[in-house]
Amino acid sequence: MIQIKSPRELETMAAGGRILAATHQHVKPAIQPGISTLELDAMVESFIRSHAGATPSFKGLYGFPGSACISINEEIVHGIPSPKRILAEGDIVTVDIGVYYGGFHTDSAWTYAVGRILPETQRLMDVTEASLYAGIRQAVLGNHIGDIGAAVEEVVAQARFTVVRDLVGHGVGANMHEDPQVPNHGKPKRGPKLQVGMTLAIEPMVNAGGAATRTLSDKWTIVTLDGAMSAHFEHTVAITAEGPRILTTLS
Ligand code: MG
Ligand code: MG
Repeated sequence: MIQIKSPRELETMAAGGRILAATHQHVKPAIQPGISTLELDAMVESFIRSHAGATPSFKGLYGFPGSACISINEEIVHGIPSPKRILAEGDIVTVDIGVYYGGFHTDSAWTYAVGRILPETQRLMDVTEASLYAGIRQAVLGNHIGDIGAAVEEVVAQARFTVVRDLVGHGVGANMHEDPQVPNHGKPKRGPKLQVGMTLAIEPMVNAGGAATRTLSDKWTIVTLDGAMSAHFEHTVAITAEGPRILTTLS
């Protein structure tokens, strides 16, 4: 069942989303060669908890050990923070963060370059971010969930990259994962109709190679089957009468 949020609940989610956006700003300068993903995770956790009433959504969610999911290069999602995972020049790293605040979750992921990266890797990041905003532009009244995925996929396909189909965006609110699913592919005018007060985590995951995935033996980390790089950009977005409202932003 799709949970509709009241205007007041949306303001609470926007407040949590601002903390989340600030958390990304906080960790971004630390993303340098030599830092471990566990150190980044500790920065995420302490920064979120420094805001009264805010906690990291992912800590303990389904048993996940970290506060953030931190995924390097061919890792798509759900990388476990580790002292043994040290960032190196040329890597890309996705930091996926959830904030629980005032009874509601928000969810936002960003892929960052570590030092200098190859131009083709930069292009993968740029296309993935562009596909996120193409999807968000379709998050308007009168459209359906399928319009979002179709817009994401079009941007990605034109760039000759591939969207991950095994993983999807989702409704988000009192629970981190709510209905409806928000695939990164689809057909216009298909799927649930968008309504005022729906809050969606729109999150294209884009591979430089094929779409196929596999899960590592740690039972969490999902990687590209062919080992090619993957990027991931995510915002929590509310459907409003005035158009899409990004909740996980400082502005
Ligand atoms: Mg996320
Ligand atoms: Mg999400």
